[in-house]
Amino acid sequence: METLRSTFVHHIDTESFSLESFAEGHHRANELVSTKNYPDRPTLGLFLDHARDVIERRELSDCHHRSKVTDVTQSAGTETYLVETDAGAIETHRVVLAVGLGATPTLPEWTRSFPDDAPLAHVWDEAFDPATPGAFEGRTFVVGGGITAGHLACRLAEWTAVTLLSRHELEIELTEADPHWINWRHIGKEIHTLPPGSEARLDRVRAARNDATIPPYVERRLAEARDGGALEHRQGEITSANATDEGLSLRFDGGTKATAARVVLATGLEPVPKQPLVGRVSESLSLARGVEGFPVLNDQTLAWRRTDGTESAVYVSGALAEPSVGPFARNIVGARRAAERILDPPDQARTDPLPMSSRGGS
Ligand SMILES: Cc1cc2nc3c(=O)[nH]c(=O)nc-3n(C[C@H](O)[C@H](O)[C@H](O)COP(=O)(O)OP(=O)(O)OC[C@H]3O[C@@H](n4cnc5c(N)ncnc54)[C@H](O)[C@@H]3O)c2cc1C
Repeated sequence: METLRSTFVHHIDTESFSLESFAEGHHRANELVSTKNYPDRPTLGLFLDHARDVIERRELSDCHHRSKVTDVTQSAGTETYLVETDAGAIETHRVVLAVGLGATPTLPEWTRSFPDDAPLAHVWDEAFDPATPGAFEGRTFVVGGGITAGHLACRLAEWTAVTLLSRHELEIELTEADPHWINWRHIGKEIHTLPPGSEARLDRVRAARNDATIPPYVERRLAEARDGGALEHRQGEITSANATDEGLSLRFDGGTKATAARVVLATGLEPVPKQPLVGRVSESLSLARGVEGFPVLNDQTLAWRRTDGTESAVYVSGALAEPSVGPFARNIVGARRAAERILDPPDQARTDPLPMSSRGGS
């Protein structure tokens, strides 16, 4: 991945033009890449160097503890939360859950029973590195039809013969959703008018996300690799596979086969509400979950509501806040929007809370 999909105003600092100033101050303005019909996008290197600069300038290391959170509990009758970790417990009065996407790669059914040394990997496996995929004689199949699959196929095609295998035709979209969804006013009108915890909310958010799409500049890279003969695109699905001495033997939905294959899956991650921590925190603190296990939040504060309708001091950011923050919740700008609500919520008196969906209180 050479550049971000999002624009130069989406970064982790608080000032909108911080990344642009950083680029200019370091004579790296050429790393703000111009894009047709869209603002400039930063290179990955520039974005990361700016992030490191923010971490240093804002002394974020001083408030960073490294450990795995296993639960959040509260002693009866106190306002104090105990954040339980594998390195002991931390006392606090507020908790923000910003646990990202799901932790488990999504695996197709046919992958269930392979030996560990089979030439099969998921792009998000810890051990997989697209820069060092290892020598392999046969063809590599990249399974997926989104931006991750697109980037991966281009990268692997620099070394080896690649087939990009997608269920559908490659769909081209510049952004992950219409930029209107960055604004609270639009989010409020489109989703806060629907009952918290309802399926209708999630449906609207999903309809707005351009999931499994590829931006035009990745499409161009794919076309170049295709023209150079290193890559082919095939539409279809693997229905079964066997491990052989030469690699995997694959059968496709049209009945055709391929032998001596390696497969790298770019099939996404399991939904974040399935993360065990989400279930544990909700149970320990009696917090309400709606459709598909998403937390039921106060849209104005992003505080997770208890099953009795009162508000906890556990707040949610990132993909887990999608039913309140909308289709950009899982993106950088969504994290910024969430921070605004958590730190400086709008006047609640102006907003009438909607009743929870009938499935929301469970
Ligand atoms: C290849 C790629 C390209 C992307 N490009 C863009 C882009 O161009 N623009 C854009 O806006 N977004 C992009 N994104 C998405 C971007 O990475 C996310 O928007 C951003 O990382 C979300 O931040 P987050 O804090 O919500 O979650 P994350 O960055 O995923 O962070 C979650 C954190 O929670 C930690 N965690 C989880 N569970 C526990 C636990 N039990 N205990 C302790 N810690 C825990 C994890 O270790 C991790 O550090 C891209 C993502 C990928 C993978």
